[in-house]
Amino acid sequence: SASFLTVQEGCDKFCSFCVVPYTRGTEVSRSPEAIIKEAEELVNSGVIELTLLGQNVNAYRGQKKSGNSLDLAGLIKEISIIRNLKRLRFVTSHPKDMTDNLIELFGKEEKLMPYLHLPIQSGSDRVLKKMNRGHTVKFYVETIDKLKAIRSDIAISGDFIVGFPGETEEDFSLTLDLCDKIKYAQAYSFKYSPRAGTPAYEKDDLSEEVKAERLVKLQEKLQIHQLNFQRNLVETVQEILVEKCGKFRNQYVGRSPYMNPVVITSTKELIGKIVKVRILNTSGLSLSGVPVT
Ligand code: SF4
Repeated sequence: SASFLTVQEGCDKFCSFCVVPYTRGTEVSRSPEAIIKEAEELVNSGVIELTLLGQNVNAYRGQKKSGNSLDLAGLIKEISIIRNLKRLRFVTSHPKDMTDNLIELFGKEEKLMPYLHLPIQSGSDRVLKKMNRGHTVKFYVETIDKLKAIRSDIAISGDFIVGFPGETEEDFSLTLDLCDKIKYAQAYSFKYSPRAGTPAYEKDDLSEEVKAERLVKLQEKLQIHQLNFQRNLVETVQEILVEKCGKFRNQYVGRSPYMNPVVITSTKELIGKIVKVRILNTSGLSLSGVPVT
């Protein structure tokens, strides 16, 4: 089965729309020893896929008892030694903390799945600045280019906020352009909604209509790329971690390396296993296929 494992909590980034730094406090990383012990226990109980969790997971910096500190890449290296663990993921990452160490690990560590959730929120530098994201669109695109150069099959998912205070039509069209460039395998998108206590709270200045209209446009674009991504998987063979039974007899549901739900038809018992599956079809939401014999 698959499980989450918290490695880090809190956030020091203070994006101007977000309450996390106020509600969860400053970044705190758990000790590597405690994490590895918990990972071993989970794997001993049958977990084969672990997702390391943190509000700012790639800012992880743990202190070992020996005094040495470990970044997320170092932590992943140590966890990946656990023999019966097959797959590793981590979420949520901030573009600024995608170090070369971590990027290079995608080319070295086979257990690390070729899928990265890397939110940007807007495709406009002007808006990113107002959001206090601390990086430019160019930096983000270059980070993804580096990842793709190292692991060509890596899939990217994202987060977007439309209608941030002061977002112009031009800013918004830059977000659409960015989506065309990155071709997200999946993305979450929301209308800006002011959160009390955050710097952007008082400035909410776009009408609901404008926000709603932009959200529809963005989601249409994201859906096209999501569908294309899934269509490109049709006729390929993917290793699927089977998680549960499907709706009908002889049906199972699992996840691809890229987090797509996959419906598998088989008369064999597959739950908890990683199965090679030929992908036959996509509905846009999920894939379907049969085990390769
Ligand atoms: Fe931190 Fe993410 Fe909130 Fe920004 S959006 S303050 S990085 S938790």
